[in-house]
This record gives sequence, structure tokens and C-alpha cells, in this order.
Amino acid sequence: MSAPRVTTAPKVVAVTASSPADLSGLRAGDELLFLNGRSPRDVIEYSLLVDEPDLDLVVRRRGLAEPFPITVTKEPGEPLGVEVSSAVFDRVRTCDNHCEFCFIHQLPKGMRRSLSLKDDDYRLSFLYGNFTTLTRFTEMDLERVLTERLSPLFVSIHATDPDVRAGLLRNRRGATSLRWLGALLDGGIEVHGQVVVCPGKNDGAVLHDTLAGVLDRYPRLATVACVPLGVSRFSHESAMRPHSREEAAAVCDTVDEWQETFLAAIGRRMVFAADEYYLMAGRPFPPARTYEGFPQHENGLGMARAFEAAFGGDERAALGVRPGFFAAVDGAPPTGYRAPRNAANGGSIATPDAPVAILTGEYGALVLGPLVDSLGRGDIRLVPVANHFFGGNIGVSGLLTGTDLIDVLDRQPEGHRYLLPDSCLSEGRFLDDLTVADLPRPVEVVPTDGLSLRRALEGTLADTTSGPGCGSAVSTAPARVPVTLGGSR
Ligand code: SF4
Repeated sequence: MSAPRVTTAPKVVAVTASSPADLSGLRAGDELLFLNGRSPRDVIEYSLLVDEPDLDLVVRRRGLAEPFPITVTKEPGEPLGVEVSSAVFDRVRTCDNHCEFCFIHQLPKGMRRSLSLKDDDYRLSFLYGNFTTLTRFTEMDLERVLTERLSPLFVSIHATDPDVRAGLLRNRRGATSLRWLGALLDGGIEVHGQVVVCPGKNDGAVLHDTLAGVLDRYPRLATVACVPLGVSRFSHESAMRPHSREEAAAVCDTVDEWQETFLAAIGRRMVFAADEYYLMAGRPFPPARTYEGFPQHENGLGMARAFEAAFGGDERAALGVRPGFFAAVDGAPPTGYRAPRNAANGGSIATPDAPVAILTGEYGALVLGPLVDSLGRGDIRLVPVANHFFGGNIGVSGLLTGTDLIDVLDRQPEGHRYLLPDSCLSEGRFLDDLTVADLPRPVEVVPTDGLSLRRALEGTLADTTSGPGCGSAVSTAPARVPVTLGGSR
């Protein structure tokens, strides 16, 4: 048995009653130094190890001088029954870029540390859909991804011109790291791309050049999302500014044009514009069918159309948050990366027939307005919440904070039902660390999909918790934007 190569052993934070782990004597607080002689680097390795029917563990327990062995006997594939404390047991690979548009650099001081994690780790891309620039990707990483089929991955492209890309990332390696994208695609890995479009930097002719480069060099990409940069009032980057209406319309036109080109060349549209662009440009969203199954729904592409369809009763369109690989990992919590929204309700004391107020961001209100109007119910109103906390052009529901909600709810009447999208919560907390218990009115937390909202309005929503949040940083939609702000999103 070799020495552990990890800096942190998987730590048990919970044991399921009567599970194999419980029956074998594992306890919360135990550290799993070895599993069948191996010390996993991350939950990807961990999940493979705990899949084994017989498991020889070496456990370190507080209060005991020496680690000791535990043997677990279980059926192949049977969950071990423990929840461990992290998804990555060695160090999360952090990014070495200095993007002007990075939202992490635009956070106010004093926010919790996990929000400031600038990860650029392909494992978090696989586990949570975080975008990676590949500037720290290595030959060994490629070998592992191909061998273990870690697919899909999510890659930040921004520009295919090497010099432009290096300039956007402010990192020389940005000029060459897309070679890994080619290698991943050649190896059959499904990869979704993203372009954070910054007006005056990589829009206009540069965006055309980027999409031409995608068609030329990376036609096997699954999708490319064009998303607008977010600019908070804490930005110190003088060259970063929100899109004008005309610039947003130009991005919509560019995407339209290239969809036609991709359709003709490879039989699918490949590139999509974030919903925010259509809102900024004052244009209708494209038809639902043109989103080709909503492959980047979580990143705000087609979310409004899917929400609309689900609100109309189409259960297949109630995409919410897709479980992805992570949901299949036995017991590994996403704490510190993308946590479950864990939408504990505030315990509404309103009567079922009380007037209903839907709390939402300013962009969300634009999407929800027509849907609510279509119900013809005078007892339902929208309450748009302006984002004074971040300021700038931040208008998505996923970045709503407790501070702004308190301001708004203080002025709302008591005794009404207040519905809140779960996308602004991570483990029950807002970005500013407040919880629904800190709000001056009880709220009902509703999963962020059209079907759940419809059911909440009809009083038939049974379960108001939802799965892990994820997606791109400052993307669009009635709700659902990530609570993890890192990554070149
Ligand atoms: S946007 Fe992403 S890649 Fe760029 S500096 Fe921020 S975390 Fe790093």
C-alpha cells in the first residue's frame, strides 16, 4: 500500500441508517484514507471504488491514535451509504487567467470564500458543467478524460483567433490551449462551448471569425453558447460595459446567420444566443424547436421557451436542473462548488386563496409577464426585484440577494403568498449569505421551471425542493443562473 497522494482524504459527513457503511461501523467524521488500497483524487475515482462489492477501508477517526481497517461487504453497485465532504480531494485546479469580464473580480468584498473560487478544472466541468479554458489542461488530463470517458465537458472558447483569445484571457496560454479542444473532440468526447461576448472586444467581426473558426476546426462541438458579459457596479475594468440594444440585436443577427450556415454544413444549428440577448434587443425568442432539445438550457439558452412550454403544461419541457453525472455519485455533496438549492420554505402563513405575488428578477418579469397575464387571474401579481446589490446590468433571478428581497418585501402587504424561484438559493442561502428566514415575509420557494410555477399558482405543488444548481455565471432567464460565479462564463 503506497502513501496517500491526496492532500485531503474523503471525509464522511453523514451515514445512511442501515446502509452497508452503517452496518460496518463507519461514522460521520471518519476520514477514508484508503479504499481497496487506493486514495481517490476526487469523487469520480471515489465512485468507481465504492462501486466494488467488497471494500477494504483504512479509516482515521478523531480521538484514536492510529488509523484502523474496516471491511464493508455489499452488493456490486449498492450504495455505500456515506456522504463525503467534497467532490475533489486534492486541490481544485484554479485558473491562471485574468479575464476582464470575470464576474468573480466584480463581487463585493466580504462574500463567502467559496464564491471566489476561480476554478479551471476539467473535473468540475464534468461533474457540474463548469466551463474550463483548458489553459491548465495537460497530456495526463487528456489521457484520463479519454480513458475514463469523462463526457460531456464544457469549454470556454471566447475567440478562435489565438491572439484575440490570449488577450481576452490575459494569458499567453490562451493562444494555444484550444489544441486540447481538438484532441478531446478527436477522442470522441462531447464538448459544449461558450463565448462570453464583450462589446467592442469579441463581438462583430471577431464573433463572425470565431464561428467560422468553430466550423472550420471544431465542427464536432455539440453546441456553442453566445452569452453576454455581466457587469456589476463593482467592476474596475473600464473597457467592460453592457451591450447596447443595437449590439444585442447584432449578436442575435450573427447567431441567426450562422445557424443557417451550420445547418447547411453539418445539419444542425450548433450556435445559440442566450435569452438575455432577445430581451435586450426587444425581440421575440426563437421558436422552441430551433433550440434542438435545449442542450444548454441551464446556461440560459432557450430557457424562456422551455419555461413557457412547461407553464402551458408540457411536462417534457420542465427541464429544471438536469442531474448530470454528479447526481449518480454515491453520497458526494457539491458543497463549495454547486450546492443543491435545498429550498427550505419560509412557511407561508397565508391562506390558500390569498393574493399571490411572484418574486422575480427584472429579466424574469419580462418573461413571466405574458404568461401570468394569460391566466386572466387578478389575484396574481409579479414583483420584479431590482438587483441593487450587484447593480450594473445584472437582472437575472438567479443572482437575487436577500438584501434586495428584504427591501422589496418590507413594502409588500402581509398575508399574501410570496413565491420565490429556487435558482437564487444555494443550500438554502442567498449569495449574500442571508436565508429565507431572514426575509420579512414568509415565502414559498418554487423550483425554477414553468410547470412548478403553474402548480404553485394552482396550489398543487407538492414538493418544493430541487436538485443541484449549475449553469453559466451571468446568463439569462426567468430564473436559473448559477450560484457558482467562477469559470469563464
Ligand atoms: S472568467 Fe473564468 S477563466 Fe476568466 S479569470 Fe474568471 S474564473 Fe478565470
